[in-house]
Amino acid sequence: MQGVSWVILSAICFMLIGCEPQEPSQSQEDVPASEQTTPEQKHGEEDKQADGQQTEEAEKQEETEVEPPDAVLQKFDTDEAVLQLKNALNAIGYDLEATEEFDEGLTWAITDFQIQSEDLLASGFYDEATRDALLLYFEEGESMEPGEGLAWPPEEAEKTEAGTEVVSNPYDELALVNKSFALPDDYIPEDLIVPDVPFPFTEDLPQKYMRENAAHALEELFEGAEEAGLEMFAQSGYRSYDRQDDIFAANASQHGEDHANTYSARPGESEHQTGLAMDVTSAEVNLELVEAFGETEEGQWLAENAPEYGFIIRFPEGKEDITEYQYEPWHLRYVGEKTAKYITEQGITLEEYYEEQVE
Ligand SMILES: [Zn+2]
Repeated sequence: MQGVSWVILSAICFMLIGCEPQEPSQSQEDVPASEQTTPEQKHGEEDKQADGQQTEEAEKQEETEVEPPDAVLQKFDTDEAVLQLKNALNAIGYDLEATEEFDEGLTWAITDFQIQSEDLLASGFYDEATRDALLLYFEEGESMEPGEGLAWPPEEAEKTEAGTEVVSNPYDELALVNKSFALPDDYIPEDLIVPDVPFPFTEDLPQKYMRENAAHALEELFEGAEEAGLEMFAQSGYRSYDRQDDIFAANASQHGEDHANTYSARPGESEHQTGLAMDVTSAEVNLELVEAFGETEEGQWLAENAPEYGFIIRFPEGKEDITEYQYEPWHLRYVGEKTAKYITEQGITLEEYYEEQVE
């Protein structure tokens, strides 16, 4: 059944699209999704070259090779399974560079697929749920167009009014957002929920919210802290672009733009808009967000244990030149367990991590 539908699909696409050969020198990442060669086209070329020996058996073999890998993968992984995943995505219409690197192109494709698959959280990570959805897609071939969920990154990055580069994949749970990379002004995470942790206020404010994966990870972190006999409070999570705009404007009119940029973020440049950050505090510092929190038992427990739950202290002491923020022992950023542990063990920042991985 699967084989037959694949052959029919390939044949139909081949007939519809024809087979313009792809420019060999063109780098795939620079090609917008709409202009990419589809795998069907490639099959078309192969068909042309083969001298009539293209049998059903060969098609079948190709199909087993493109099975989505049984693995958990994320950006910057280098693995055979990454190539297998790219082959699987290419077989359903993507056109990813066939390498073993989990690059931005693959992060985009996974995110795009996740957005178009209703039940999935758009994280950019290849997890079990994404694999199941891919397998189902292979079986049932529902309608999905590369780029329809998340547009392929433009060749030249967009810029904010302040001249900051706009990130093309705000859904990516590893997204780097800082004074050099801003979120789009219309980006609102779609999976915001209130984590079941103590807050020092009872109103249902936007700052209680976090993206779903991060919220559940925060719940586990708070459980861990409680088991260690500590009491912490979540103070401030999600913050919209507009709210950040108001905060920055108020700071700037009171103290000037330079001052505002040192102590707060321009709209789009705040990690709180990602829904992946939460400011945490304790009674010992009167529930304030102050440097002294780092000296408290809670602050020290966080610095040591947050990575186990997928969080990093995003603005560490001594890294102010790199992060362009003062030391903030209270500001947690979710990046997933693997990356959080690595970053913390290496004593680096998210900026340095990117520099190291991207080279
Ligand atoms: Zn913060």
